[in-house]
Amino acid sequence: MEYIFTTNNLEKKYGNFTALNGINMKVPKGSIYGFVGKNGAGKTTLIRHLCGLQHQTSGSFELMGVKDSDKDISKARRRIGAVVESPAIYKDMTAKDNLKQQYLTLGLPSFDGIDEILELVGLSDTGKKKAGKFSLGMRQRLGIAIALCGNPDLLILDEPTNGLDPQGIIEIRELIIKLNREKGITFIISSHILDELSRIATYYGFIDKGRIVKEMSAAELEKECRKSIRMKVSDTKVLAGVMDKLGIEYTIIDDNTADIFSEVAFSKIAKDFEDAGCTIYTMDEHEESLEAFYLSLLGGTKNA
Ligand code: ATP
Repeated sequence: MEYIFTTNNLEKKYGNFTALNGINMKVPKGSIYGFVGKNGAGKTTLIRHLCGLQHQTSGSFELMGVKDSDKDISKARRRIGAVVESPAIYKDMTAKDNLKQQYLTLGLPSFDGIDEILELVGLSDTGKKKAGKFSLGMRQRLGIAIALCGNPDLLILDEPTNGLDPQGIIEIRELIIKLNREKGITFIISSHILDELSRIATYYGFIDKGRIVKEMSAAELEKECRKSIRMKVSDTKVLAGVMDKLGIEYTIIDDNTADIFSEVAFSKIAKDFEDAGCTIYTMDEHEESLEAFYLSLLGGTKNA
């Protein structure tokens, strides 16, 4: 797999406090990378390092194949766009003038592409309306439009749907998916709400107390959270033998608990279990919710 951003034991200390505690993450090129962690986990700190707004205490990273210690890192950074915290918008300017301003800041040779960006984010008909009069959702989309100036390969959005109403959330989601599919832009999106990211993310990185506790694809997460039958039995080693014989997929949780991933009739398997000398105590439908999975990753209780 090709990665657009990787880190190697990245560490950031503020005095005695360790905000990033040896971060190792890999963001696949072309992915929508959901960067998930509780408030204070270190998401913004990591993003600020990526954008060059802060410098690590130790460790390193590579952006688009360029090491952070390489002089070309600033060139690589020009290929990223970011909306970190609140979008940097001139409230007394129209959407179009905001983009023109950004083109000037980036030193782009002409204003070509501005109308296309406005169209992409759904702000082409805002005319003379000043950004200060925009709804929160429109402002967020304008922030993304500004980040799109200069044709970035990677867009970083820090909590992009914070404070938005349901309609605003849907619009941002659709915009992200469109930019990812049609323009091939890789996204790193931070959020403390896994459920919200789960509608768009294709890859996840879970961060807790300045450490990446897990990285996984959306397909792997779905597998973790899919429906199963949770069985309590006298011995899961014997259960494994029976399930292997029947060709049924399963996961052993502990000596007496296992999840099986198939609709099986109790009457059908009861005899096999009896013959193998394994008692079935209970069988219940079980669905790991995203939130429970997230809590279990962060060391909380699954059924809290
Ligand atoms: P949130 O979702 O609340 O934005 P986050 O995951 O983005 O959380 P960070 O903002 O990266 O978390 O903060 C990580 C930790 O580092 C927090 O405990 C924060 O208080 C601390 N921190 C951040 N910046 C500084 C600083 N300049 N000086 C001291 N501590 C800091």
